Amino acid sequence: MNKLITAYSYWRFLSCKKIYNLILLSLSYQLSRVTKTPIIWGKPTTLSIEPTTSCNLRCPECPSGLRSFTRPTGMIKEDLFKKIIDENGDYLTYLHLYFQGEPYLHPKFLDFVTYANQRKVFTATSTNAHYLTLENVEKTLDSGLRQLIVSMDGITQEIYQDYRIGGDLSKVQKGLELLIQKRTERKQIYPRIILQFLVTGKNEHQLSELKSWANAMRIDELQLKSAQIYDFENGSELIPKDQKYSRYIMGNNGKWKIKKKLENKCWRMWQGSVITWDGRVVPCCFDKDGEHTMGQLTYNTMPEVWKNPKYQHFRKSLLQDRKQIEICKNCTA
Ligand code: SF4
Repeated sequence: MNKLITAYSYWRFLSCKKIYNLILLSLSYQLSRVTKTPIIWGKPTTLSIEPTTSCNLRCPECPSGLRSFTRPTGMIKEDLFKKIIDENGDYLTYLHLYFQGEPYLHPKFLDFVTYANQRKVFTATSTNAHYLTLENVEKTLDSGLRQLIVSMDGITQEIYQDYRIGGDLSKVQKGLELLIQKRTERKQIYPRIILQFLVTGKNEHQLSELKSWANAMRIDELQLKSAQIYDFENGSELIPKDQKYSRYIMGNNGKWKIKKKLENKCWRMWQGSVITWDGRVVPCCFDKDGEHTMGQLTYNTMPEVWKNPKYQHFRKSLLQDRKQIEICKNCTA
């Protein structure tokens, strides 16, 4: 049901220009796969924009949490955000206001959502839900946000804080309760609330309790996600025992390896980009530290960056031998 409601909202934001652009992207992607040469006809149809790298938590597999970025940390400026939306809004079918960090820490975050929503762009964000105060809940409901993804990886404080270090589960649960209550009072159906549970070896035993809780709370959708682990070869206690939730399997040599076969393709490279708070364009959310910066939107436009030689070279390497790109080795896309 949630997927249907979300799809309805997605379709309502579509225009002939956006549909035509999607067709161009899709055709050029298929052609590129056959010819092994990057051909790109359309403009980005999705973007992720990072409001800030700041975060209140210290999650162990996240560079924001570990404070381990080599790129600078900070908050996006309003004029840069508006420039990106003004340049791309006519083609965007999905805007994820998130990359690293906690979006609600940016004082203008919900103004950004409103701005994009007024340009008829479908907006989504991901949050640890520690800032769902009454004021933020009301503003969120006013903003036109379509999808709120909440990360919650434990159903008891002990398990929750084991990964979400510094997190307070009761705050998350109270914030969600308030949001659902206010949304119901206003007779709104957006934002759709997705509870995202990163399944690890430490929390997999809580899945049935989690499902009961999510049902009782009337959460719109529960997503169980497999965890990406940086140093997986020698194993990790974060790798779940239930293979269904693991990206990795043990190889014959006793080392862990990625379960999925890596294919020389990636639709994401034709679909859109990720933009850091200071305007760097990176290929996808796996490039957390901006190793493959394709351009800088403080002085380039997105159309210039989207088809520049560096971006095309990256697409070409991916089509010809994905394994040679370090970030693509540990990716299940
Ligand atoms: S890591 Fe590579 S394969 Fe995965 S989404 Fe990014 S570009 Fe595509």
